[in-house]
Amino acid sequence: MNVKDSEFMVGLFLEKGCKLTDSPEDADIILFNTCSVREHAEERAISNMGHLMKQYKNKVYGMVGCMAQALKDKLFERLPALDLVCGTGEIARLPELVKEAAKNKVLALDNLNAPLPELKPSYRQSNKHAYVSIMRGCNNFCSYCIVPYVRGKERSRKVEDIVNEIKDLAERGIKDITLLGQNVNSYIGRAYNVERIADSNKKKMCNFVQLLKYINNIDGIEKISFMTSHPKDANVELFKAMKESDKVVKHLHLPLQSGSDRILKLMNRGYTRRKYLNLVRKARNIMPGLRLTTDVIVGFPTETEKDFNDTLNLMKEIKFDLAYIFKYSPRPGTGAARLKDSIPEDTKKKRHKILLDLQREIHRFIQIKEQIHTDKLCEELSSF
Ligand code: SF4
Repeated sequence: MNVKDSEFMVGLFLEKGCKLTDSPEDADIILFNTCSVREHAEERAISNMGHLMKQYKNKVYGMVGCMAQALKDKLFERLPALDLVCGTGEIARLPELVKEAAKNKVLALDNLNAPLPELKPSYRQSNKHAYVSIMRGCNNFCSYCIVPYVRGKERSRKVEDIVNEIKDLAERGIKDITLLGQNVNSYIGRAYNVERIADSNKKKMCNFVQLLKYINNIDGIEKISFMTSHPKDANVELFKAMKESDKVVKHLHLPLQSGSDRILKLMNRGYTRRKYLNLVRKARNIMPGLRLTTDVIVGFPTETEKDFNDTLNLMKEIKFDLAYIFKYSPRPGTGAARLKDSIPEDTKKKRHKILLDLQREIHRFIQIKEQIHTDKLCEELSSF
């Protein structure tokens, strides 16, 4: 999501006649597009910005994005040479905000519930692949997560806007796209002028499954991926649509977060371990060979050895193709931040390592399996 927002920002400045440079020394404006999902990312952004400010004077410095929205004017205290703090929903105004910030400090935070501004990037980093945002924000309020507080409630883009953006990309020769949303499965967008999306779609509203099928028919696009799916909203209808849509990559990123029902409840995730497992079984039945990836958090407040082992055992059972494993860190203002961060750092580290080692082993196992399959196939082909 941040890569796509950064592309949008670069496009805005290029349209105003600015040029991109890799060298901070040559730049007049230095903006950091930030993430506040983890404390570590915030601290790194502040430290990197601080280093630049010490090295190079007489520039306009701005912090943009989630961290700016979360830390607000506190950022001016941490970085006295900072000129601009710009929240996630104000990025469309960046050129004028920067102009103002060259004279006075500017704090621009958005109304997170305002209608979604159209953020179609005119600049793309790659001429082969593009990210396309289909919605912004999130209504789920998982207790550890800051996203709903810094990106606001869920707002879906209109189908026409998404489709026009993708057709435009296809005309530019981009064949590979990734649809982005915090929870793509809850996409529900208006479809005013596009051809009928589905026979029964009298209300002219379109859900994610319908959108996916529709995009699958856009000429020039050859590969469609999407992220992220929330396990409480992913369903058989989605899996069938993925199977039937020839351009859709058979890959599902389905964040597990924990294998313990008690912890899942504290995380406010809205599913149980059994429901997650059933979902995975259904997805794999419908799409044999599906690539399944996930996110897991260790060391959530009150996580016992038993809770941790529930996660470990579930990961052994499912055998994800890839798992991003994180140590819990409290995000101020979230529900979980009100709980005591009770798991000592060395326990978090130990659990983190156990899951990483397990995942490496699973990865090796999958590679060997694939190799055997390829060798067998080669044997069969050579004897044909
Ligand atoms: S679904 Fe949960 S983890 Fe994902 S963005 Fe929303 S609140 Fe955060």
